[in-house]
Amino acid sequence: MPGDGEFGLIARFRERTASSDRVAIGIGDDCASVRLAGGGAVLVTTDMLMEGRHFRLDEAPLPSIGRKCLGVNLSDIAAMAGIPVAAVVAVGLPRDRAAEVGIGIYEGMERMAEEYGVALVGGDTNAWDGPLVVSVTVLGEPTGRGPVRRSGAKVGDAVFVTGTLGGSLLGRHLDPRPRLREAQSLHATVDLHAMIDLSDGLASDLPHILDESGGLGAILDAAAIPIHPDARLQSDRDGLSPLVHALGDGEDFELCFTVSPGSADRLVATPPEGITLHRIGTIDGGPGLRLRLADGLVEACRVRGFDHLAPRSG
Ligand code: ADP
Ligand code: MG
Repeated sequence: MPGDGEFGLIARFRERTASSDRVAIGIGDDCASVRLAGGGAVLVTTDMLMEGRHFRLDEAPLPSIGRKCLGVNLSDIAAMAGIPVAAVVAVGLPRDRAAEVGIGIYEGMERMAEEYGVALVGGDTNAWDGPLVVSVTVLGEPTGRGPVRRSGAKVGDAVFVTGTLGGSLLGRHLDPRPRLREAQSLHATVDLHAMIDLSDGLASDLPHILDESGGLGAILDAAAIPIHPDARLQSDRDGLSPLVHALGDGEDFELCFTVSPGSADRLVATPPEGITLHRIGTIDGGPGLRLRLADGLVEACRVRGFDHLAPRSG
């Protein structure tokens, strides 16, 4: 039986979907992959962002909101080591400032689309008395050995992340830098077993790899988890440790991936140019996610990442 919360509900949606030989990857990964006649495949991902939940209209410049809405989707294409091709954008605009808000978010989205070579090819425009809602869908192409799934981790794999984590609420959450170039370069260099982008926090996202890979576990070295300076700033403000922020804060939009120990050694010895890699732990038989602390003791990771259905505000 699926559990509670956002992911329990998604598991229930997943149980209800019929299989089709057109679907190479369905619900449960960062993108779906749909087979096309002629032998190709298209990656598809969608994310809906809501005022008050993912951004605040009175705090965030409109172009940043647009940038974020496209960027979170590009990050999901990166998580499959794909290349983004086109996007469609559906907006529910606040009626009293519909044109101003629409054009404002489009400005940011357009600029990002150009930067990443994505064509904005359609969408839907609505206005209402509710808050701003933006839903972006991105289509992409698989590359190299094909899409890197969440489900390919193996016992003994090394776990990596592509950058420092935590404290994104201090501003980075509005400025996702989708790791498309990094994913491409890693995909071309080693056999990536499993990959996910960090949108809900490492402590929540890595377990998706563990679950999808058949119920594996992982031990992370607490001292090896790279901490963003903003996680330290947050820690000074709220008293939670920087490590808790690095594990639990969402919207880092770094990649987390697993590779064989041999590939891991090669990546550490000669990382692809311009890419920062942190080897943070090892996949094992489980159960679940555990942390090796400075004194060598291993304990279950109690930090949780973001869950939209969790009974709390924010
Ligand atoms: P991500 O954080 O990578 O965007 P999510 O956690 O939002 O992924 O979703 C996890 C998986 O569940 C994805 O494969 C997504 O497509 C799927 N999913 C989420 N919501 C729904 C839904 N309402 N119906 C069908 N599939 C969904
Ligand atoms: Mg994702």
